[in-house]
Amino acid sequence: MIKPNLRPLLGCIADDFTGASDLANNLVRAGMRTIQTIGIPAESQKLNADAIVISLKSRTISKHEAIKQSLQAYEWLKVQGVEQFYFKYCSTFDSTPQGNIGPVTEALMDEIFGEGKGFTIVCPAFPEAKRTIFNGHLFVGNELLSESGMRNHPLTPMTDANLVRVMQAQTQRVVGLVNYDSVRAGPDEIRARFHALQNQGIGIAVVDVTCNQDLESIALATADMPLVTAGSGLAIGLPNNWRIRGLFDLNDSSDMLPPASGYQAVISGSCSQASNAQVRDFCQRGLPTFVIDPLADVSHVNIAQQAIALAEKHLKNGPMLFYTTSQPDIVKSIQEKLGVIKASEHIEKILAEIAKGLVQNGVRQLVVAGGETSGAVVQALGIKQMTIGPQIDSGVPWMSASSPCCHDETIHLALKSGNFGSIDFFTKSFTQLSNLHHE
Ligand code: ADP
Repeated sequence: MIKPNLRPLLGCIADDFTGASDLANNLVRAGMRTIQTIGIPAESQKLNADAIVISLKSRTISKHEAIKQSLQAYEWLKVQGVEQFYFKYCSTFDSTPQGNIGPVTEALMDEIFGEGKGFTIVCPAFPEAKRTIFNGHLFVGNELLSESGMRNHPLTPMTDANLVRVMQAQTQRVVGLVNYDSVRAGPDEIRARFHALQNQGIGIAVVDVTCNQDLESIALATADMPLVTAGSGLAIGLPNNWRIRGLFDLNDSSDMLPPASGYQAVISGSCSQASNAQVRDFCQRGLPTFVIDPLADVSHVNIAQQAIALAEKHLKNGPMLFYTTSQPDIVKSIQEKLGVIKASEHIEKILAEIAKGLVQNGVRQLVVAGGETSGAVVQALGIKQMTIGPQIDSGVPWMSASSPCCHDETIHLALKSGNFGSIDFFTKSFTQLSNLHHE
């Protein structure tokens, strides 16, 4: 007999919006009823869900602001009465040299355990998306993180694959490793290793992972850990800890969305290798596109007006793509001319303004590529909360939300982290959505 939940069990703080929906997607697949909020909800009303994921846009903001927002999110979740906190970052550990993963982790630890105390893990692995960790080194497919496309990321270039070293550079607490021998030996051995490391004065441990079974073992070993920090992968196993205790059952209705309607559009501000290939694929199909030149001497509002004027001609015929997605050399030259921060702020403003115009003109199915880009778009649309639906590809679900830009009508959204999705993602996602209610 399943006991009804009087409070959410898991409280998550995600450092970007696509990452938050990636996490929510895994929790839903594991049977947890999950609500994703955009920012910290204004009211402290109890939400009826097994898990709550608060999406922040704190990956590349200043360290102090990231800590402030993460602690506010923590306080809000604490009032909800959650049993465990989950700080979610990207599976490619996207961070600037200053953080923010390390500083936010330590601020949460100081709050939960007391200054300088406690123990938690670092585990960005997500084997389904080919992110694995061995001897503390993060791999993207067959390549070390530092040799993958992430070395050219516009905001968070990752040039060191050794996560113990990367995390140690961002933290005061000593960082250690739970290596693959312990992980393979199962939950009891992992737990024993946690205690041994803690006795050596280590506060944070990177954990090796090569497959989902490893994540399931680690999840069992972290059942009593008040705070975990991870990519979305750990969420494949974590819900099991509450299911074992009979606190929720597999929830079939957790992935139900209302039928989709309206026009279809894609907005891409991601410059990852995957997004570049997906944009190319969309263009090669002869579908309509609007390429944005970030260096054009025109305001973001004017560029958006041009984009919408063109969209009015095409949208009735099917999906249209709006993008700034470029290869690393072009990104670099734009950053040299505008400055890294100015370039990304300007581009995000343009894409957010286009998203608003599209929704005001009848788009109700929107795919957005890029974590920061998705954050800017969802904020511009005034979306507060999203319901998680079925997965399109690893890490990317369809979601539904309402936006004041279209008098609170339903919009279907897919927020794709740069590196995710098959090459035909921009077209297949719409096909999948329209098939949902016809199967
Ligand atoms: P991803 O998920 O691939 O990391 P993001 O949206 O998080 O994508 O980050 C991409 C960043 O690069 C955004 O801040 C975006 O504004 C910026 N950007 C997009 N296109 C360009 C471009 N052509 N030149 C410079 N910066 C760009």
